[in-house]
Amino acid sequence: MGGAAGVDKPGAPALLRVLKQQFGFDAFRPHQEEIVTAVMAGRDVFAALPTGGGKSLCYQLPAVMGDGLALIVSPLISLMKDQVDGAREDGIPAAFLNSTLSADEARDTWRALAAGGIRLLYVSPERLSIPNFRASLSRFGLKLIAVDEAHCISEWGHEFRPDYRTLGLLREEFPDVPIAAFTATATAAVQQDVIRLLGLKSPFVVRASFDRPEIFYRVVGREGNGDEQILRHVRQHDGEPGIVYRGSRKGAERTAELLASRGISAVAYHAGLEDELRRARQEQFVKDKVDVVVATIAFGMGIDKPNVRWIVHGDLPRSIEGYYQETGRAARDGEDAEALLLFGPGDIASLRWHIEKVEDPEERERAEARLREMLRYAQSAVCRRTQLLAHFDERHAGSCGRCDVCAGEVQREDLTEAARKLLSAAVRTGERFGAHHLVDIVTGTPTDKVLERGHDALPTFGVGREHERGWWLDLARDLEAAGCLVRGDGRTAGFELSAKGRLLLQGKETFMGAKSSGSRGPLRASSRKAREEQPELPVDGVGELDMMAQEGLFQSLRQVRKQIADAKGLPAYVVFGDKTLRAIARTRPTTSAALLRCPGVGEAKLEAYGELFIRAVREFLERAGLS
Ligand code: ADP
Ligand code: ZN
Repeated sequence: MGGAAGVDKPGAPALLRVLKQQFGFDAFRPHQEEIVTAVMAGRDVFAALPTGGGKSLCYQLPAVMGDGLALIVSPLISLMKDQVDGAREDGIPAAFLNSTLSADEARDTWRALAAGGIRLLYVSPERLSIPNFRASLSRFGLKLIAVDEAHCISEWGHEFRPDYRTLGLLREEFPDVPIAAFTATATAAVQQDVIRLLGLKSPFVVRASFDRPEIFYRVVGREGNGDEQILRHVRQHDGEPGIVYRGSRKGAERTAELLASRGISAVAYHAGLEDELRRARQEQFVKDKVDVVVATIAFGMGIDKPNVRWIVHGDLPRSIEGYYQETGRAARDGEDAEALLLFGPGDIASLRWHIEKVEDPEERERAEARLREMLRYAQSAVCRRTQLLAHFDERHAGSCGRCDVCAGEVQREDLTEAARKLLSAAVRTGERFGAHHLVDIVTGTPTDKVLERGHDALPTFGVGREHERGWWLDLARDLEAAGCLVRGDGRTAGFELSAKGRLLLQGKETFMGAKSSGSRGPLRASSRKAREEQPELPVDGVGELDMMAQEGLFQSLRQVRKQIADAKGLPAYVVFGDKTLRAIARTRPTTSAALLRCPGVGEAKLEAYGELFIRAVREFLERAGLS
């Protein structure tokens, strides 16, 4: 941060010397040196580095080498003390200001600041939103502002925090102080938001590779509530520190109890516990006094434990971003570690249930999109690493050798021919349609939409009758997961072919997908088993157990429609359009009132056909054991 203060630009040897002297490191990690240099030249910075990439050093080193004060904004109040302690350990005068300080402590800190005795000041965004506080900062010779967890400013991130929005004022109020934004979870959308909302001026942008080759990724169907599987897993990793994430506090408590009852040193950790207890448990884990923490998402933000050897997710996480961040807590020391995700059909229902409670329609839509992406990850037979990195707009060719798919644990077969049929349908219809319509075409299903657009006349119409709809939908999902099909811009946009997709269509690439065994998808069989063992699944109006069940109901509804239409000599769509049948399949109305809520159902049609469709829904629920 010397730029503005007129400090000589230090050459690389000077940086290395301080790196060694102050921090004890022999070399920079990737990108650290360029970031430090940019910051010291007074430039704004946007840096996306994976968890454990060494972000703190990027602002601590300039703070040490320059003069004046570096301000670090961080949302993690509980960690500030640790960060400050850590910096002091390295001999850097550091302090923090947040709501946990007593009035006396805060006064001491102010005094030290006034005396110029502090180089690093950590503050919470709440604190920064106080105008007087910002005004006083300028008195202390502010030379650098570092915004940690910068993705929190974006609604597209998975951890949006309204209080981060006030950080937008910093650029106006400190026009000459460089701002460096750091995050471990930046997608392109988040990056744009951060740069725009913080008002960064032609920032130096760093996007490190997010690949964590030391982590092996695996997805397995969950048996029951997963506790026994987790127990087996922990025993296989005897004595190795690891974290189990569960979707609920209750689940975390239950799993921790089971592990403890079998002689494993395991504790629960979630937001419902006393602060004191949480702190104690975190410390036990960090200090290797406890092997296993069973936690909700509240755990692990920024904990710096280098030797976490495995991470298990007992329930489907809500987003790829969150998942990747949580798995990233393993293997900070660069040694091998394993990330295991257990997935059962109940996850879809319970996550949908949470999503339905979100009131803001846009936020709900984002949550839906995250869930879809997460499901694709869990269900497809495409290199997990390729999928994870694609989320961060990073290409990975696959065959990573360090995931269950690449290691051959998921049975696969050559699906090149089928894939080309689907891609061809996409191309011949102008790359504007989604999976359902493309599948209707290849399976030769004359839906209203297909007929209206004359897509039944395409050469690809009906070329894939040998497989069921569900099979093709799985294939479409896998092609998206593999990056062959991509969604065009905009919400309603359909699939377009990527460069990779075009090569595949031209026969220059092959495509391997999950091996079919009746129905495709690596998790189908165990999913069904899990469902039988979990009769207490939350089944609400919209929570479908899985796509296949919904598809099955849709097909029965079509039969009902066909019978009515045939009896009356009417075209099927006059009875109900596909859109209506899809809505019925999704919401499963069992009363007239509920059926009326489906689009396309008016009083007259309710009167005429309502009973028949409600009966079909009821029969379906009975067959599925859900009524
Ligand atoms: P992040 O905030 O990016 O998750 P940290 O700043 O906490 O990462 O750094 C992660 C770990 O890497 C810390 O233990 C830190 O001391 C260590 N570290 C940072 N830079 C280096 C380096 N150049 N050489 C060795 N270790 C480093
Ligand atoms: Zn792989």
